[in-house]
Amino acid sequence: MSHGPLLLIVSSPSGAGKTTLTNALRERVDRLEFSVSHTTRSPRASEQDGREYHFVSKADFQKEVASDAFLEWAEVHGNLYGTSQAEIERAGDARGLIFDVDHQGARQIKSQRPDAVAIFILPPSLKTLYQRLKGRASEDAATVNRRFEVAQEEIAHYGLFDYVLMNDDLETAIDQLGSIFKAEECRRLRSANLAEQLLREGRVLDGDVPPTS
Ligand code: ADP
Ligand code: 5GP
Repeated sequence: MSHGPLLLIVSSPSGAGKTTLTNALRERVDRLEFSVSHTTRSPRASEQDGREYHFVSKADFQKEVASDAFLEWAEVHGNLYGTSQAEIERAGDARGLIFDVDHQGARQIKSQRPDAVAIFILPPSLKTLYQRLKGRASEDAATVNRRFEVAQEEIAHYGLFDYVLMNDDLETAIDQLGSIFKAEECRRLRSANLAEQLLREGRVLDGDVPPTS
């Protein structure tokens, strides 16, 4: 029996490397889905509606809030972001589902789904974080500065998370993220159904010869 996808919450200060790391994990692990959030912020040049986000107006976002469509939502960097309940249904029986959300979203998802695994990504230093934010060249200087200014506020919430990972050398960080995913897949509770099924099979066979093929 399936127990649904492993829910993986990934948060970090903006620019620490969530997108880079989760994309790399998806290249290594099959059937790993990405929850596509709704946002009121404008798309970056490289982004496509429905792929990175569902880009919506504030009025449309508020309609979704009123109809209870979101598993969680929050205001981040002056824009609204939310995860629709439909994303979990859309993931079906995928192996995993990644939520790229801020600490407010992480807390809300954890409160409703305590089985979700929350990972926080740290940059090796604030200087490196600033260089990465600037180097990404996807926002203007004022936006980069605003995001950098709230980085420490975001880092202050690291205690909410099950794992904290430093993204210095990219390959090392990808390996660590992959290891966390594999270890979490092996948790006792996720294997309980199979163990119980084998015990039931054993009782049926009791007294009989062991199966040879
Ligand atoms: P986030 O999704 O957390 O905002 P991104 O994944 O967009 O961050 O990464 C921010 C920038 O830093 C990008 O330009 C990315 O290529 C770069 N980057 C991410 N990880 C590393 C790393 N380990 N070493 C060097 N640059 C990195
Ligand atoms: P960005 O604008 O760089 O894509 O994301 C900005 C911040 O919003 C990041 O911290 C990201 O994790 C967070 N975020 C993205 N989608 C959601 C969401 O659906 N809910 C919440 N709470 N935060 C989100």
